[in-house]
Amino acid sequence: MTDTQYIRDRLNRPMKDLRISVIDQCNFRCTYCMPAEIFGEDYRFLPFKELLSFDEIVRLTEIFAKFGTEKIRITGGEPLLRKNLDQLIKRLYAIDGIKDIAITTNGVFLTKQAKKLKEAGLDRVNLSLDAIEDDVFKEINGRGVKTKPVLKGIEAAQEAGLQVKINMVVKKGLNDSQILPMARYFKGSDIILRFIEFMDVGNHNGWNMDTVVSKQEIVDRISAEMPLEPVEQNYYGEVASRYRYLDGGGEIGVISSVTDSFCGSCTRIRLSADGKLYTCLFATEGYDIKTPLRENASDHQLILELIKLWSGRTDRYSDERAEGKPLKREKIEMSYIGG
Ligand code: SAM
Repeated sequence: MTDTQYIRDRLNRPMKDLRISVIDQCNFRCTYCMPAEIFGEDYRFLPFKELLSFDEIVRLTEIFAKFGTEKIRITGGEPLLRKNLDQLIKRLYAIDGIKDIAITTNGVFLTKQAKKLKEAGLDRVNLSLDAIEDDVFKEINGRGVKTKPVLKGIEAAQEAGLQVKINMVVKKGLNDSQILPMARYFKGSDIILRFIEFMDVGNHNGWNMDTVVSKQEIVDRISAEMPLEPVEQNYYGEVASRYRYLDGGGEIGVISSVTDSFCGSCTRIRLSADGKLYTCLFATEGYDIKTPLRENASDHQLILELIKLWSGRTDRYSDERAEGKPLKREKIEMSYIGG
């Protein structure tokens, strides 16, 4: 078998993290991600036969592990809508070289699933919660769901022994009123709250620079009431800037995906639910790996496909945005590829 461990792209970036979207459907209709006007009753989600099967996902992950991929994040859509997800996690956990499995979820189904996911080998949960006040949250999620089921999901995850981080996307005028209430709510708990700058992913979220609340502004707003100081990165390539409360109330993170650029240290590859590979969140086109997979390609052939894709990779979208290059183009939706 080819020694694939040290494959690098054209900008010398290794391939380390694999994000697997297992479904394109979601139980929420967050206005900035899957607005109900677009993703309505008539919207055609992927038919089941188009989704990669667990066998196919496991086979590809085994190949990725040979490339040095160690971390897996399961996402969607809402990944907990994919039936028997624990069975997939169990099989991924058993793959040689896979050291860490995380999931990104809105948390509503964790009360039922947290324990069996943990038992299957899940390590961490990134739970998306964009507001702590019911009125704001109900409006954002587009389904009128209150925060209680999500808070129950957080509790269930912690009880199951899963590490939990909360992610809050901040969009000006939508939920920036929640920065302080969210910070107050999670301060002093053992849960890290991370604020994420609203990004220009997808085509339907009405993004423009005026809708972004910058990392600096988020930190200043919190620090004015609850003083913060910066903390060192945990590891090379960590995207969240860390801050701790001076009074010992724990720490927060801020992911400045717009005002900073992380392209230089981006080691991520994304697999869509229908078997397309994307080397950038802001990509237009995916690389079809399902066809060779379903046409009985050998492992060697699949490895050659991945080498071709990764070794030719030059994308650096956020760098180009920061450099002021014109970027207008159709992008994949966040709900399709996951976070
Ligand atoms: N349904 C799951 C969830 O809610 O976490 C997983 C999929 S969701 C697409 C993954 C993450 O992407 C969520 O935290 C969501 O808030 C975030 N997201 C969606 N659109 C975004 C945008 N324009 N900018 C930043 N984050 C975004």
